[in-house]
Amino acid sequence: MFGITKERAERGVWDREVEDPQTPGFGEVSITVRQAGICGTDYHIYKWDAWSAGRVKPPLTMGHEFVGEIAAVGPGVSHLRAGQRVSCESHITCGHCVQCRTGRAHLCANTQIIGVDRAGCFAEAITVPAGNVWVVDPRIPDHHAAVFDPVGNAMHTVTRIGVSGRDVLVVGAGAIGLFAVAICRAHGARSIVVHEPNTYRAGLVKGLGADLVLDPSDGRALAAWERGLNGEGPDAILEMSGYAPAIRGALKVARNGADVALLGLPAGPVSLDLAEDVVMRGLTLCGVTGRRMFDTWFAVEAFMLRAPELMDRVVTHIMPARSYAQGFALLDQGACGKVVLDFAGLRGRAA
Ligand SMILES: [Zn+2]
Ligand SMILES: [Zn+2]
Repeated sequence: MFGITKERAERGVWDREVEDPQTPGFGEVSITVRQAGICGTDYHIYKWDAWSAGRVKPPLTMGHEFVGEIAAVGPGVSHLRAGQRVSCESHITCGHCVQCRTGRAHLCANTQIIGVDRAGCFAEAITVPAGNVWVVDPRIPDHHAAVFDPVGNAMHTVTRIGVSGRDVLVVGAGAIGLFAVAICRAHGARSIVVHEPNTYRAGLVKGLGADLVLDPSDGRALAAWERGLNGEGPDAILEMSGYAPAIRGALKVARNGADVALLGLPAGPVSLDLAEDVVMRGLTLCGVTGRRMFDTWFAVEAFMLRAPELMDRVVTHIMPARSYAQGFALLDQGACGKVVLDFAGLRGRAA
């Protein structure tokens, strides 16, 4: 079957015939993929940066965010059946460690990520543990259901510190940053300011309910905004860029006592002025990874049902799976919100 793969330990992404997962094993389901999102993680793997080079073992079928239809259920699976439309939590956790047994499976040290540590969803079919499957509400369209996973990253980051009634700064308006802006509005933030130098993405931000989009290199704009907040700066910061100067800049404008949720993955170590910018000003910094299983998924489902028009503004491109190179080029240029690849069309032509 058709698959989009990391073939070699160098920049790039390829396609080839990959093995069909065929019959699911005990506790597993096999899923026919309909649509899949290209994630920032896939882009890291495409670029072959230090993080991906240290973790991914080519050749590997990429992709971890998708919607599809259950093709077959393995022995021991009684609550799912063939034909159900499903999405999937991409973190496969062990179920027996202290984190898994205390409601914090997203922090399981034995986590395997689909499309990073094992075969991914950029293919016609995938097999996953039944416990990771999420049955999709029929009112949610495929191109939204395909991106439950990254909307979950945004939801987890927003809810980790809470934004209701707060002045929020979102650093970086890639797809997850864009979803976060929409969720902050839905969750009653008092004001939302976004740091994003890319003009295409800054344009998308404006349609999502942000009050202001700033190019962080524009010092005058920053100063004007801080005056607007009585010179106190944001008290809730969502860091989605992973870009060291942007992280340092965000800490500089934070209000004393602010909460800072860090989701963006820096390419390497980042130096911070902890004494001046964190300790003396009483900031709280917290790392955010994955999604809470499955609290975050219920919250995302509710958001998708209530705000489909916001989802549509962030999912800017749906293209045939075979056009994946064009999809990755859009990420290279920053000329997209979320890009979704359509795999159902592959079968349409084959039939
Ligand atoms: Zn993702
Ligand atoms: Zn575990």
